[in-house]
Amino acid sequence: MQVKAPRGTYDVLPPDSQKWQYIEQVIQETARLFGYSEIRTPIFEHTELFERGVGETTDIVTKEMYTFQDKSNRSLTLRPEGTASCVRALIEHSVYGGLMPVKWYYSGPMFRYDRPQTGRFRQFHQSGAEVFGSNSPYLDAEVIMFLVQILSNLGLRDYELHLNSVGCPLCRESYRQKLIDHISPVKEKLCIDCQSRYEKNPLRVLDCKVESCHQAIAGFPYIYDSLCDDCQEHYILVKATLEDSGINYLHDNNLVRGLDYYTNTAFEIHIPSIGAQSAVGGGGRYNGLVKACGGPDIPGIGFALGMERLLLALDSLPDREEPNSKLDVFLAVLDEKYDNQAMQVLDRLRKAKIMVDRDYTGRSMKAQMKYADKLGARIVILMGEDEVNRGCFTVRNMSSREQLEVQTEQLIPAIIDILT
Ligand SMILES: [Zn+2]
Ligand SMILES: [Zn+2]
Repeated sequence: MQVKAPRGTYDVLPPDSQKWQYIEQVIQETARLFGYSEIRTPIFEHTELFERGVGETTDIVTKEMYTFQDKSNRSLTLRPEGTASCVRALIEHSVYGGLMPVKWYYSGPMFRYDRPQTGRFRQFHQSGAEVFGSNSPYLDAEVIMFLVQILSNLGLRDYELHLNSVGCPLCRESYRQKLIDHISPVKEKLCIDCQSRYEKNPLRVLDCKVESCHQAIAGFPYIYDSLCDDCQEHYILVKATLEDSGINYLHDNNLVRGLDYYTNTAFEIHIPSIGAQSAVGGGGRYNGLVKACGGPDIPGIGFALGMERLLLALDSLPDREEPNSKLDVFLAVLDEKYDNQAMQVLDRLRKAKIMVDRDYTGRSMKAQMKYADKLGARIVILMGEDEVNRGCFTVRNMSSREQLEVQTEQLIPAIIDILT
């Protein structure tokens, strides 16, 4: 029986893997400029962490987690997102006792048992950032500027930034009742999940994914109109900072987060060119999360970017550059008695940071030249009896078709001369 990759997973083969490296490299470089350091957490955690850190009533936790018992009967779960693990690490290592704020970023695979469909996978990949220890609205602006800078460094400038404030527990207290009053008369039209949760947590109805729930509650009161003075002031400062930095946004009253630990700024980034599912990432403030996970009461904010969506967006760019996998130098060995010597030549060139390869399948001279061409070699070095006896190499520039004879000790400078 042929074994295939599990449903909802996929292999990244060359040359596609170069696109991944490119995106990860842009994220790393941008993170460095913004003062974020990388954190790497385990792929699996105790299930309880996600129940607390993602929310026991969310679809992710109730329906989509890869949960299993290990051989000691512990309940473990493949991480469905990145934030909960960062919060756990922050608490576990008392990182909050050091320099604040703590600014982290991460990249890696996440797992959700979702129905696989276009652009959705059971193993998918996210890069994100989390900052702990400051409630400054300027930090909210910085986090968004970081996200926007990543997109812009990738050449993705046609994005839409959706922005809202979901307030604080104080402003939500008065808002809750207004929302319940609006929902009660139409509660029969809601999905089963919403019917059972709307009284306890009416905000969850707002971010329900079921379309008929959205229609049923049309005209619902906006949290924006219930913001307390502090939350209004916070939101105004975030918006003003973005405006002064030349970042356009759309205030979006429909952008809400149903869980209690989300506070203030919420945002989403859309790239319309990738189609209906245009969100490539999003995030927001979660001042109640560290405490909800058993830590001290310190504020946090973060975002996550979907790598698969970013790749789609990059592929949709009209002037995208294909990854360059061309070889600098191909060493054609014309007699197998020089195989060992050839390995020393390869070694010398590689130590001089020259990208070089050779044939290992016993190709004829003619076939080696064809192979070099397929690899896109810019230079071919010929190493045959004549060359070895005279202590030199024949160096062929594949674009100009010029050929020259180079003494052994002049080989590296001659190659660098052609390549630059
Ligand atoms: Zn408030
Ligand atoms: Zn619903």
